Amino acid sequence: MRIERLFPTLVYRAPLRMRGSAALNARLLRECQQLRADDGAGRRWSARHYPSYGSAHRMQRLSPTFAALARALDRHVVRFARTLQFDLDSRTLAMTDCWVNIMGRGAVHGPHLHPLSTISGVYYVAVPAGAAGLKFEDPRLERFMAAPPRTRNARRANRPWITIPARTGQLVLFESWLRHEVPISRAARERVSISFNYSWF
Ligand code: FE
Repeated sequence: MRIERLFPTLVYRAPLRMRGSAALNARLLRECQQLRADDGAGRRWSARHYPSYGSAHRMQRLSPTFAALARALDRHVVRFARTLQFDLDSRTLAMTDCWVNIMGRGAVHGPHLHPLSTISGVYYVAVPAGAAGLKFEDPRLERFMAAPPRTRNARRANRPWITIPARTGQLVLFESWLRHEVPISRAARERVSISFNYSWF
């Protein structure tokens, strides 16, 4: 008897850990907060469309601090792409956009994909205890015709939703078609993260 595990969905996570990463994280946190303080238009847009603060979308081109984060993330993206066995043929995955999310108590980001991207991810700058993680949905869910529910102690690979906890200084990478959400935050303090997309064309 043989059962193969086909079409896996890979989610990568790692600490950013490298020389100077604590100092980089401290600079990022200061800049995220400063950005919001300076960005009246962004705050107004966020208040209308978004239950949290979202910054401008190409921070890696606007700030040397974000550019340094992008260089650190590049190495992880290369490793993830190698695991996925992408044949990029002389092209490389490059960061296309990168933005700040600051979520207060009660903020929630509903389920979504990142269209027009290949690899997406998040880096956690400051995560208070009790803040929400990143919840992924089985991409086959809409095709589960007459599929029974899974047992309570089903293996992670067999569950329809998996939440990766948010941890300060950690990054998570996933393929951009994978639906995800940030459930409601119950933490009193703000959760600060930086989201980004990579594309190969
Ligand atoms: Fe997202």
